[in-house]
Amino acid sequence: MEEIGEPAYRGAQLYHALYAERRRAFASMSNLPAALRQRLADDFCVDMPTISQRFRSSDGAVRYLLSLADASGAQHTGESPARVEAVFMPADGRQTICVSTQAGCAVDCHFCLTAQLGLVRNLTAGEILAQILIVLEDHRESLAPRTNVVLMGQGEPLLNYEPVMAALRIMLDANGMALAPRHVTLSTSGIVPGIEGLAREKVRPKLAISLNASTDEERDAIMPINRKYPLAALLAACRKYPLRPWERLTFEYVLLGGFNDAPEDARRVVRLLTGLRAKVNLIPWNPGDLPYRPPAMEQLNEFRDVLAAKSVPVFVRYSRGQDIRAACGQLALGGAGTVVSTIASVPPPGRPQHTRLF
Ligand code: SF4
Repeated sequence: MEEIGEPAYRGAQLYHALYAERRRAFASMSNLPAALRQRLADDFCVDMPTISQRFRSSDGAVRYLLSLADASGAQHTGESPARVEAVFMPADGRQTICVSTQAGCAVDCHFCLTAQLGLVRNLTAGEILAQILIVLEDHRESLAPRTNVVLMGQGEPLLNYEPVMAALRIMLDANGMALAPRHVTLSTSGIVPGIEGLAREKVRPKLAISLNASTDEERDAIMPINRKYPLAALLAACRKYPLRPWERLTFEYVLLGGFNDAPEDARRVVRLLTGLRAKVNLIPWNPGDLPYRPPAMEQLNEFRDVLAAKSVPVFVRYSRGQDIRAACGQLALGGAGTVVSTIASVPPPGRPQHTRLF
């Protein structure tokens, strides 16, 4: 605002209109004088990703396929722009929005379909925030009072650290999106320097760690990131992490039938988490085009019981939107599900070569 000769406080007003009131048209920003609204409309635009497709699940979840305007302006040149996914999940009294932090992902967890895209590119802070704004706008008439945001879509948030933190500061700012820290969760595959960085932040969300194995050998086999940041280093970073009084670390454990779902695994998980204020979310693997199978119900129950018997808080999470490929580990730009709206045609997903970190 100062650059265009306006007082700085106009910047705060514009910020409030964009993020707190979620207004996109300058004409509707009634906290700005009419002449300024006109000037902004003449000279600037609020650029958002476009919704390419929506897929609606029978459980109420909606998966959005969003096209990004690339730095090269690809959306305007006809070149295929980067695409990401966001998922809307309604529940009683709240909605949860799952957002992507990168287009594709380089981490290559073997049970995750997103890994097959490789890393396309990092998202900007604006592109991360825009996913929330777009999804909330799409449901404006029926929103529940509370919004949860989970950074669990495509990408590893801690490998796109600065833009993710910039987005989080706006999400958690009382004058911005005003989400409570306890309602925003960042999930990581275990990037130790990123966890250490987050520990130093004044403003931060809740932290979830994607654990998925109870030994290095087992974890190496499904999460190559473990060779760089093995369990001992990961859990040491978790032990040093400064939890707020109300907070627990969340450990996510995707149960792969016959691979990591034995009672012995559960006992080792208990030992790994000893001394940590933590809870465990067990996620039965979601069938996809990968060589794994969901756990048997008895194995799942036994695993849960072993943790519960040792007083580890444990929850079984069934993913939403499985029929639309919106569930955990299924975000790979695929087209399953009921298309409820197609605005632009999207080519079938390509399979770019993996960009490997290691
Ligand atoms: S599980 Fe997360 S970190 Fe691992 S490949 Fe998939 S998107 Fe990347």
